[in-house]
Amino acid sequence: MTDAPIFDPAAFRLTPQEAALTEQARAFGASVLAPRAARWDREASFPTDNYRDMHEAGLLGICIPAEDGGLGAGFRAYCLTAAELGRYCGATALTWNMHVCSTLWTGALTDDLDLDAATRADHRARRRLHYGRILKHGAIYSQPFSEGGAAAAGTTAFGTTAMRVPGGFRINGKKIFASLAGHANYYGILCTETHGDEKLSRRDTLYLAAPADAEGVKVEGDWDPLGMRGTVSRNLVFRDAFVPEDAALMPPGVYFQAATRWPHMFLTLSPTYMGLAQAAYDFCVRYLRGEQPGTPPVKRRMYPTKQIAVAQMRVMLEATKALWFQAITEAGPDPTKERMLRALAAQHAVMENANAIATLALRTCGGQAMLKSLPLERIYRDSRCGALMLPWTAELCLDRIGREALYEKGESDP
Ligand SMILES: Cc1cc2nc3c(=O)[nH]c(=O)nc-3n(C[C@H](O)[C@H](O)[C@H](O)COP(=O)(O)OP(=O)(O)OC[C@H]3O[C@@H](n4cnc5c(N)ncnc54)[C@H](O)[C@@H]3O)c2cc1C
Repeated sequence: MTDAPIFDPAAFRLTPQEAALTEQARAFGASVLAPRAARWDREASFPTDNYRDMHEAGLLGICIPAEDGGLGAGFRAYCLTAAELGRYCGATALTWNMHVCSTLWTGALTDDLDLDAATRADHRARRRLHYGRILKHGAIYSQPFSEGGAAAAGTTAFGTTAMRVPGGFRINGKKIFASLAGHANYYGILCTETHGDEKLSRRDTLYLAAPADAEGVKVEGDWDPLGMRGTVSRNLVFRDAFVPEDAALMPPGVYFQAATRWPHMFLTLSPTYMGLAQAAYDFCVRYLRGEQPGTPPVKRRMYPTKQIAVAQMRVMLEATKALWFQAITEAGPDPTKERMLRALAAQHAVMENANAIATLALRTCGGQAMLKSLPLERIYRDSRCGALMLPWTAELCLDRIGREALYEKGESDP
């Protein structure tokens, strides 16, 4: 049985491109990702085979502008497509997000920002180099920004530093939870450019693609987590690692502009979990109807308690979808306060509700549904990880919504 789209193209008035991409992702997810997902989870191994197949399917270049040879998907088209992939393999969709951001942020998003003509021309020429590696050679980019301090939450400058040297930069520092560590070809690290002894400033954030095989770049530590095991998010250490000038994914100052003017860029971690929420609901319905592959064809749908639980899940799913769809639709530069609060609320709703729906699905389906031979157990664990992802963790979303709803800019109490 084919799954229905998460966002029906007619009902949600998707563009023809969005309808085509989401259909492609759904078919790809069901036939390629789903059968392999248990293996990456069990082994905590990177889904290398999936990346090979995603390259062949053009999905590694989904957000590369069409004039540069990619599929030219914008922010919403990407989010909707990623949700369909996340439905079938959370770890693949989440790591794919890190990769895609290296093209979305440097592509459509940077096109919305203020750059003088010469800087924009330079940027376009440089990003073509990165795009070419992805399209021609299937190069994979990751996005390590977490350091274990306050920087990933957006409050202080990144402690990983880049010092200008002839022909490029020397990088020093350590990233934690670096998904795709040891498997990406380029680590798109966020670091702070140093200026002598001056205090590090967020305005000097650089976004550099360090080649994985550069001298001084090392993957450390093990990876044996609760969920999202296939992301292989180990530590990355940079010791005087040299990266050439053309490693710059954005010109100086542009990441800071993006983070402050295009904040929906941080909503890109949520599509995976939108997909997982749908997957948990789908599983529960199939299971209660006696149609879940790998289980005996026993129907359990006639019990009123099960029906109520499914209704509760459906209410939560529809509310989450509606809010999230609105937030990804209105994403863009310089959002109003209302749009900003909605984006944070959408992120919170997706991250928390994905796990709440999976929890309810487990309780409703019962003991046999938690076996590792079935996908719900993995969905349950994977979905728990969403609320922990900086900079918009569920806690930080609540923190900001509460404060920003009650205070206008510049207001404080005596
Ligand atoms: C599966 C998975 C994959 C990941 N992949 C990547 C990746 O590819 N790249 C990457 O950069 N990171 C990645 N992360 C890391 C993630 O974004 C977080 O940085 C990481 O989970 C932080 O963990 P921590 O306990 O050190 O957070 P801490 O910084 O210790 O924060 C703990 C909690 O405290 C709260 N908190 C933090 N700062 C503040 C503050 N200023 N004010 C109020 N509350 C605050 C937050 O709610 C946070 O959840 C991944 C995480 C997971 C779970």
